[in-house]
Amino acid sequence: MRPLSRRSIILGLAAPLARPSGLRAQGAVFDCDVAIVGAGAAGLSAARQLQKLGKAFVILEARARIGGRMFTDTRLGAPYDAGAVYIHWAERNPWRDIAAELGVTAVNNDALSTASEFFNDGRRAQRRGDRGNFQAIDNLFDPEKGEVPDISMAARVAALPVARAGGAEAIARMSLGDEPENISALDYARLWSGDDLLVPSGYGALAENYARGLDIHTATPVTAIDYSGAGVALETPAGRVTARAAIITVPVGVLQKGVIRFAPSLPGVTRDGLNGLGMGALTKIGLRFDGARFGLAPATDLWDRRGPRSSFDFECWTWDRDVIVAYLGGDHARSLVARGERAAIETALDELTDLIGPDVRKHFVHGVLNGWCADPWSLGCYSHALPGNAGARAKLAAPVADRLFFAGEATGGESFGGAMTAGGAWLAGQAAARAAAG
Ligand SMILES: Cc1cc2nc3c(=O)[nH]c(=O)nc-3n(C[C@H](O)[C@H](O)[C@H](O)COP(=O)(O)OP(=O)(O)OC[C@H]3O[C@@H](n4cnc5c(N)ncnc54)[C@H](O)[C@@H]3O)c2cc1C
Repeated sequence: MRPLSRRSIILGLAAPLARPSGLRAQGAVFDCDVAIVGAGAAGLSAARQLQKLGKAFVILEARARIGGRMFTDTRLGAPYDAGAVYIHWAERNPWRDIAAELGVTAVNNDALSTASEFFNDGRRAQRRGDRGNFQAIDNLFDPEKGEVPDISMAARVAALPVARAGGAEAIARMSLGDEPENISALDYARLWSGDDLLVPSGYGALAENYARGLDIHTATPVTAIDYSGAGVALETPAGRVTARAAIITVPVGVLQKGVIRFAPSLPGVTRDGLNGLGMGALTKIGLRFDGARFGLAPATDLWDRRGPRSSFDFECWTWDRDVIVAYLGGDHARSLVARGERAAIETALDELTDLIGPDVRKHFVHGVLNGWCADPWSLGCYSHALPGNAGARAKLAAPVADRLFFAGEATGGESFGGAMTAGGAWLAGQAAARAAAG
């Protein structure tokens, strides 16, 4: 990882000085065939595909690290995945094969002996989510059981008895990261399912491993893209890069905020696509303990429902490490993240104290907040279509002027079945690379 090379800066600067409109003139000197914006799953996958196709490319990454939302956080002294953790629908997920090729162990989640304990406002509750409950919810989102309309998840489950509708709302917040009113039922119904694998050494670490040997310009945010000419010109604080095409893997939230200025402005179809998507707020708080286990076996889940709209899930001692990971989503997560890391950790500890007892604080060592919804380079956990906007992903995926290709989890997989996931992002990166190379 190094800053933009002197050569690429000089090459890049030469074009605008001579031709202020960017690359309009014939015979412009391009730094490379394709510029890739972002070094997450989609960007890395696009790079590998372009490598195979023998194309020259540059990868520009805003953060000082790579992997994007695949990130194994080591600040607790034990690795834990702050973003993606499961290799979902593993039967067809490319990360399963990548792990195997790199000699990285992946374990089927079903093989782990996990236990779940349920609480309501800190008080032990009956086991939630009997099989019938899940089946009833699942039926509403199974296209094989009947057409799923493009209405909100909340509206879709409104006819269920209150307890079951509550289960669906928990799925929305804790699995998709947002309130059920904000999520298109049809978009959710399209998602692929299958086996889930876990990577003990870290899914984020696997992405880093996969990137090894790629020349990635970190700490190099793209601030503007001019595609008015024959190719594209990308502005960064380290200089200008010119290419025949750009693959833009920047998360939807960042694009919506206008962090990258496009000239000319993006066409209506792309803007419609962006406006039709939302970003969830799934959040993790990592808590390190001193070895005390409070009588909880490794891989125990503690679910606590606090009022109708807020829940915590505590994943305890996964891989027998001294770490508890607290999960929360939706507006509850947004408001807690807005209060900052210290308040988030304190709140999680208060919750845990209610569930486990006062010894929690005695054995707590330190914690970290991974508040993706406030992280300027993600501004959310992953995308969902808003109700009535199930076509938004296709609109965003449509190439712009044959030289801008938006790719990432938001456009992942055939019929967007891989959306929201690292596997989908990888597939989207491959598709964008083939299109850009063409
Ligand atoms: C809490 C959480 C849990 C998750 N759990 C799972 C899971 O279990 N399984 C799963 O499959 N998926 C999971 N996901 C989703 C998964 O992490 C993402 O779908 C996937 O990693 C997205 O990859 P991407 O390449 O599309 O985007 P990203 O990984 O976000 O990559 C985009 C890159 O662009 C960079 N960037 C942004 N702006 C600029 C700019 N202006 N210039 C240059 N670079 C820029 C970013 O820094 C980032 O590195 C989870 C995500 C979160 C947040």
